[in-house]
Amino acid sequence: MPSLSTLSPEQRADLRTTLREEYEALKAQGLKLDMTRGKPASEQLDLAAEMLALPGNRDTTAEDGTDARNYGNLQGLPETRALFAPVLGAPADQIVVANNSSLALMHDVLVYALLKGVPGGEKPWSKQEPITILCPVPGYDRHFALCEGFGIRMIPIPMTGEGPDMDAVEKAVADPAVKGIWCVPQYSNPSGETYSAETVRRLASMNPAAPDFRILWDNAYTVHHLADERPALANILEACAEAGNADRPIIFASTSKVTLAGAGLALLAASPTNVKWYLAQAGRRSIGPDKLNQLRHVRFLRDAAGIAAHMERHRALIGPKFNAVEEAFAARLDGWEVASWSRPLGGYFITLDVTDGTAGEVVRLAGEAGIALTPAGATHPYGKDPHDRTLRIAPTFPSLGAVRKAAEAVALCTLLAAVEKTAG
Ligand code: PMP
Repeated sequence: MPSLSTLSPEQRADLRTTLREEYEALKAQGLKLDMTRGKPASEQLDLAAEMLALPGNRDTTAEDGTDARNYGNLQGLPETRALFAPVLGAPADQIVVANNSSLALMHDVLVYALLKGVPGGEKPWSKQEPITILCPVPGYDRHFALCEGFGIRMIPIPMTGEGPDMDAVEKAVADPAVKGIWCVPQYSNPSGETYSAETVRRLASMNPAAPDFRILWDNAYTVHHLADERPALANILEACAEAGNADRPIIFASTSKVTLAGAGLALLAASPTNVKWYLAQAGRRSIGPDKLNQLRHVRFLRDAAGIAAHMERHRALIGPKFNAVEEAFAARLDGWEVASWSRPLGGYFITLDVTDGTAGEVVRLAGEAGIALTPAGATHPYGKDPHDRTLRIAPTFPSLGAVRKAAEAVALCTLLAAVEKTAG
């Protein structure tokens, strides 16, 4: 197949006409498909159906004698912390198990840092304004929304395939206003890449000018494999401790995409100093988390092998959806040199890089044909993708048939937008 750039003007005009006709036919189908958010499908939630009957009304006492129905135990039950220790790569006494949203934990950590400061800092972050957080791009829009909402400046840092461009990170942290970096280190949202050991080593050992610098390590997809090939992620807590920077990382994770997205458990892991700091703040906010949900999770998932087995069931449901997107993209776009896309080994997203300057147009075309996509730019701070190039495709929620249809439609819109752009 010829690439778009090698077509004669006549061939290009013919192609445009054909694609336009196809697009009109697509519109006439009156589709209504939603590929916007990385939500689990209801069949995935069904996998945890039995959990809802647990722990039962006679099983409410935790291993340490805590009555899970009552107030208290801010850090979480010991058996719940032990369950997630291997997942987080942290000892159980350095783990906090909270309620249903890790995003809420990230929000709270930012608020506490802004109002109170973090260990190692002389003043609250809000008294050192304007502060900055580094944002690897493409990245997670809700991280950026937190920063924007609190008036924290953001500096985009390009991703390289092995995590953020560490030359750019090391340069940026020479500014004492730079207080942190967002990281989704495994199966990153949305690029799917996993940080290399060298990236982790450099993050752990770099020398930020700010003494109160934090790595916000959002390991949301750590057990969410889609393939037998599983890239190993180096342990950030250990790497930072070895480099003499034990207080640098704060790890976040949750069971939102393991058990139930609205009723899972949120997890935080960090150095003993950071955990003490977090609990001191959180203790004013709440008298304790929902420990019945913690027991429910322990009874249902049991151990690391139980978590891994459960995640295989997810993979069986969503793996075919990722494959369907890849097949549809390849079938329509291979050879034209108008787009490239990720083939993630895990996580919840596929990144589609379309022809520069056409991402917004692809979203518009798809929208008019009834396929809702995450807005172009969402993968960048302030919603601004300077190349208007990157789209995030979320294939988990719709049915397999709908995903296939939507991906075929997106591929058509991608090629059409590229042809129309080059036609001038
Ligand atoms: N972090 C990342 C990277 C995510 O993709 C998501 C969900 N889309 C979250 C956090 C939200 O997690 P939670 O449900 O625990 O708030």
